[in-house]
Amino acid sequence: MSQLLSTSIEYLKGVGPKRAEILAAELGVRTYRGLLHHFPFRYEDRTKFYKVSEVQGDLPYVQLVGELTNIQEIGTKFKKRLVAKLKDDTGTIELVWFKGVTYFAKSLKVGEKYVVFAKPNVFNSKINLVHPEVETLIEFKNAVQSKLQAVYPSTEKLAKFSLASKSISRLLRTLLPQLKYKLEENLPATVVADFQLLNREAAMFNIHFPTSVEVLKKAIARIKFEELFMIQLELLKLKLVNLEKSSGFVFGEVGEKFNGFYSNNLPFELTGAQKRVLKEIRRDLKRGKQMNRLLQGDVGSGKTIVALMTILIGLDNGFQAALMAPTEILATQHYEGLKELLVGMDIEVELLTGSVKAKKRREIHEKLEGGTLHILIGTHALIEDKVKFKNLGIAVIDEQHRFGVAQRAKLYKKNAIPPHVLIMTATPIPRTLAMTLYGDLDVSVIDELPPGRKEIQTLHWYENKRLRLFGFMEGEIAKGRQIYIVYPLIEESEKLDYATLEEGYQHIFKRFPAPKYKVSIVHGKMKADVKQFEMDRFVNGETDIMVSTTVIEVGVNVPNASVMIIESAERFGLSQLHQLRGRVGRGAEQSYCVLMTGNKLSSDGRLRMKTMTGTNDGFQIAEVDLKLRGPGDLRGTQQSGTPIDLKLANLATDGELIEKARKAANQVLENDPNLERQENLGLLTYLREKNRGKMNWSKIS
Ligand code: ADP
Ligand code: MG
Repeated sequence: MSQLLSTSIEYLKGVGPKRAEILAAELGVRTYRGLLHHFPFRYEDRTKFYKVSEVQGDLPYVQLVGELTNIQEIGTKFKKRLVAKLKDDTGTIELVWFKGVTYFAKSLKVGEKYVVFAKPNVFNSKINLVHPEVETLIEFKNAVQSKLQAVYPSTEKLAKFSLASKSISRLLRTLLPQLKYKLEENLPATVVADFQLLNREAAMFNIHFPTSVEVLKKAIARIKFEELFMIQLELLKLKLVNLEKSSGFVFGEVGEKFNGFYSNNLPFELTGAQKRVLKEIRRDLKRGKQMNRLLQGDVGSGKTIVALMTILIGLDNGFQAALMAPTEILATQHYEGLKELLVGMDIEVELLTGSVKAKKRREIHEKLEGGTLHILIGTHALIEDKVKFKNLGIAVIDEQHRFGVAQRAKLYKKNAIPPHVLIMTATPIPRTLAMTLYGDLDVSVIDELPPGRKEIQTLHWYENKRLRLFGFMEGEIAKGRQIYIVYPLIEESEKLDYATLEEGYQHIFKRFPAPKYKVSIVHGKMKADVKQFEMDRFVNGETDIMVSTTVIEVGVNVPNASVMIIESAERFGLSQLHQLRGRVGRGAEQSYCVLMTGNKLSSDGRLRMKTMTGTNDGFQIAEVDLKLRGPGDLRGTQQSGTPIDLKLANLATDGELIEKARKAANQVLENDPNLERQENLGLLTYLREKNRGKMNWSKIS
């Protein structure tokens, strides 16, 4: 069968070499299979009839039935047109042709009943139908053709070679009968039965030529399910293979360090969510397989302490630990934060970043190889080849979205057996999306904020409220608070970016003059030590206002900063706005986030502002973000390493189906992990073919 489907499209009746070339170039359709999987993007409903009196100019399409009462050629030669009148019991409407005038003048008959289909057109404030499709009522009734007409995407080039929607439909009408009884089911019978799916043949026939709206819905659902199921199967299989192949260190014990920290140093009670996640991690660490866990938690949810306690388990079992952060500022904060938390404990911690001097660096390398250094915190510098651990057992990666798969792989090589890996992200991803993007990782979620936090109040102000904004800032500074002002990063133009920031800075500087006020500025072009100096002044409370680009987005912790002002907020994506807002609300005071925008907002922009002022819940925001941006954008940020090829299914809107598909894939693999059973052979073949020549399954996280 797969042979027939692999037949070159050139050999389908009505195609030939030239059109085959166009189909390949424009649609990527090269084989029978390609055409079969070239799905319509919408359907014209030919089941519904309008009355003449109901026709309005803004309807996309109307279908009418009536009698032709008049046919008339108007004008001469080049300006000739044919006008016919169609009458039903509610009125009369004009049908107009500018092309094929002679042909239609001959073939249309006054007194005959016709079915017409067209987009309404408004001309001189009258509605007419230009170049409608026409059929006699008798033809319409006799047509076997589906009354739901598939519409395929078209391009100018396709149209030029008579390969627009209608022609594609005709090709499928030629192809499908040849495939009758030959499209074998590719999902296991149990899955088809359990999830009440349409069989493959019925789905394929109906997606192109639906026999009814109900069956069409089932056909679409079945094909989406199949797409999602195959992805989930692949991801879960990958996870199984990983688990089988990769051994991991057994951290059987929690010992003196963990327990000592818990009873003497832990400055607060862990939240329920933190405790739950720690349990999940401890289970991973005991089982002799490498841990690959993603820890999701909103900004401020307390991921750091979970990371530290995980690290302590590693130390208790005689291993070293690494903590990686994406920026120097963040690495430094982690270093200082951890040192403070570990005070009085016999644990060696060092910081390794690009700006550590050679001498200190050598010292760190030595202590690391000698095993006297327990925890190394740093940036990318940490995964360089010359950084050698004596016995790395656990690596924590903070703010994972900036670390690529390749960088993670480098980490794995730091010990004979790969260290356990905990990846932390503050960019919440809707659960069903995480199932796909990180389908081969285990996912933990901290979905509870530490107690006693005041909800951040978020305000959206237009430019005309600027004076009020300044007044508000004065008030907050007078109360002893500190303020962030963030300018957007314009990727296309670093210069413009800097200019905007500089201008804003000058403006603020004038409005909040020294010595009464003190203002810091930080941006990407600064040298690391200058940046650090400015940052430190703000962190230590020596300055009132921090003007910056988005460099402060990640992780910075200044509890006394209680106001976040985001300039040109409409230029930020939702998740970034949420990240920035998370910089405040870390202390005991009431915190504010002010979104400043221009007066003209796109509807998306308005929805983003409304979402931000409406909720503080990162997961809710992520859902809206996903719907706004669509999953397309996410391919770039995709971490799983599995190519996601979806024609019909949509990661943003098909959450429920994703869940079902994952459940089904899980069931199949639970009963037959190696896909050896007869009914699963098709799946095994599918996975083998898909992965032939690509990555192997053994070493991807
Ligand atoms: P994030 O998840 O954004 O990395 P952090 O780990 O930086 O969050 O925690 C944010 C703040 O909350 C820190 O000041 C931390 O000390 C505090 N914190 C964390 N867990 C708790 C808790 N269970 N109770 C009270 N405060 C906590
Ligand atoms: Mg953090």
